Amino acid sequence: MYCYCCSGKRFSNCCQPLLDGKVKAESGIELMRSRYSAYCHKAIDYLYATNYPDLRKANPKTQIAEFATAVHFIGLTITNITSSSDIDNYIAAHKSQVSFVASYINGNKLETLAEQSRFILTDQWYYSDGDIAATLPKTIGRNDKCPCGSGNKFKHCTLHMISGNSEHGPRHTLA
Ligand SMILES: [Zn+2]
Ligand SMILES: [Zn+2]
Repeated sequence: MYCYCCSGKRFSNCCQPLLDGKVKAESGIELMRSRYSAYCHKAIDYLYATNYPDLRKANPKTQIAEFATAVHFIGLTITNITSSSDIDNYIAAHKSQVSFVASYINGNKLETLAEQSRFILTDQWYYSDGDIAATLPKTIGRNDKCPCGSGNKFKHCTLHMISGNSEHGPRHTLA
């Protein structure tokens, strides 16, 4: 199957080794993509473990699981990556910012969120925090075409509920 993160690569060659704990993300952007995949794959432990320790109290596993179970992500677009190359500044050199737009189906609503997320490298890359701008949820009509790009009517579509499990290529229309 193709990776959830819309890389166009196979899951086994992209985010799966990270979710399985076989390798660590080498950059903020890699961690960001893998966390998106983790939400799709419901890899709750991975999401929790890659939250910066400060954040773990504020975003417990139950809360992560609740969100990951409720929503079906259908697309990811990375809009900007800023990595500091300031080697004089130890702190700055270990931070990275990634802006992205992710859309997901939540019940019968299509929601899109734009986030400027921040990542920190200590013993590994962690998600630190982010500025989130969510658009107003858009109701999907039962007879509308499903926003997941399956071509099915929304009322009949189940494809987005098994994100990435299609062998027919990336369902995601967003790059
Ligand atoms: Zn991936
Ligand atoms: Zn669908």
